[in-house]
Amino acid sequence: MTIPTGKILACVNGVIGPAENATVSVLDRGHVFGDGIYEVVRVDKGRLHGIDRHWRRLDRSLRALQIANLDLDLLRSQLDATLKASGHTDAMVYLQVTRGTAPRAHAFPSDTPPNTLILVQHFGDDKAHLRQTGAGVITHPDLRWARCDIKSINLLGSVLAAEAAKRAGCVEAVLIKEDGVVTECAHSSLFAVVDGIIRTHPLDPRILPGITREIVLQIAADMAIPCRQKALRSEELGSVAELFLTSTTAKVLPLVTLDGKPVGDGKPGPITCKLRDGFEAWERADRLKTPSVAGLNSGEL
Ligand code: PLP
Repeated sequence: MTIPTGKILACVNGVIGPAENATVSVLDRGHVFGDGIYEVVRVDKGRLHGIDRHWRRLDRSLRALQIANLDLDLLRSQLDATLKASGHTDAMVYLQVTRGTAPRAHAFPSDTPPNTLILVQHFGDDKAHLRQTGAGVITHPDLRWARCDIKSINLLGSVLAAEAAKRAGCVEAVLIKEDGVVTECAHSSLFAVVDGIIRTHPLDPRILPGITREIVLQIAADMAIPCRQKALRSEELGSVAELFLTSTTAKVLPLVTLDGKPVGDGKPGPITCKLRDGFEAWERADRLKTPSVAGLNSGEL
């Protein structure tokens, strides 16, 4: 089955079909409690980008929430089968695991298998142009919970911040805790350049351990660009020389305005551009090393 671009293919507990026909129980704990975790993976010319890293983070999230009895090998084969069925060689994959279906009660149900959902859609890379020109962001209070290192499907703090950014005509919201610490963005990791040194929040429960963040830090080290994993404070934000965000779907995106004011000289900064281009080169090299998903026409490299 090949579905047209724009359509979303779903796999619910192993059953593949168009997303508009897929159903889950109203008693699914993801639905009533937000009791679940997720991953977003990009398929790049038939290759699952950074899949080992995503799989490690998925496993970590499951352990952190004590969601047990999930056959990860089966989930992986369902992922490959759904991708193959979609026929998309450039795709965005959403993977979700919830604690399963049970009568509504807060504490964990016993003997309930997790529910899994895989969604596959074409990835159009709508930020490609902004990676050249740079994009705008706003600041917003970080209203999220105390375990942002878990990729939980509870995303209300991020949803409200992203909506505020959208209404301001911006791509993202830079989140600031009540104590003035700048954490990350609503759905991406945040980096600044201060005095020639890259700054980003250290890995702790206040931020998601971003996969792109990890790769970009490695690229920066390889390029001998100094980096300090120390949180910025809100009062420092106005004077940073460069700002950029990273995520699976946005890649390395220069940020050129913050709350309507220019960042640095209002253009993508030199260190940001080096890392943006370095990331694209890293991806090309990684593609050559990564086998394409079986049965998926891999397209040109
Ligand atoms: N931080 C948050 C809060 C996110 O939601 C995301 C992506 O969804 C990221 C960072 C970027 O993570 P990754 O690079 O793994 O996509």
